Amino acid sequence: MTEDVPGAILQRDGTSYAIVPRTPSGVVKPEELERIAHVARKYRIPVIKMTSGQRMVLVGMKREEIPAIWKDLGMTVGQATAPCVHYVQACPGTETCKYGVQDSLGLGLEIERMYLELDLPAKVKIGVSGCPRCCGESYVRDIGIFGSRKGWTLLFGGNSAGRPRIGNLVARDLSREDAIDLTRRLLEYYRDHGKPRERTARFMERVGFEAIKSDVLRYAPYIRLDDIPPE
Ligand code: SF4
Repeated sequence: MTEDVPGAILQRDGTSYAIVPRTPSGVVKPEELERIAHVARKYRIPVIKMTSGQRMVLVGMKREEIPAIWKDLGMTVGQATAPCVHYVQACPGTETCKYGVQDSLGLGLEIERMYLELDLPAKVKIGVSGCPRCCGESYVRDIGIFGSRKGWTLLFGGNSAGRPRIGNLVARDLSREDAIDLTRRLLEYYRDHGKPRERTARFMERVGFEAIKSDVLRYAPYIRLDDIPPE
């Protein structure tokens, strides 16, 4: 996937482009849906596809139309190739789900807002779930967070791609503030020690969980190292 036009991705036919408007945690307003529908008709965009990251990708536009399409949409660009947080997917949690025990949607939106601009070695996907059923795919995201009645559990280094990996359990029973703080500490450690284009799954395989314990968790005042299971 290449991005020779800012905010657009060249498709496999080598001539048409796709764009991904930012829809934090998959939440959209009626006005945004109306603008997307208007743009799709106006520019005859042939495909609108929901992605696994709770975003809509608009596929099949001409290169010269892209600036006008973004102007008409009035939405910000959802990152698709840059090395940074691409998205935070979140399940409904206590907002609407009968099984929810924590506010996953609120936490997901807050984390995306706080860490979207952070430069990182590679793309990062974050999944937040409102209960241990993990509909936000928390175990296979670079950072995964899920709620229980006691608070938030945090995982790091998961991946669902061709070399899947279950994230390491980093901490349990965190408050919302501590989950946000630990997310920052892990992202900053990865930013400072990851190799270019090294996803967190490969990063964890290289540095090992003991490094996370001694370099990150030891300095987080709310972590009890004895409670963390061995790798
Ligand atoms: S993870 Fe739990 S709270 Fe979230 S949608 Fe699934 S069942 Fe509902």
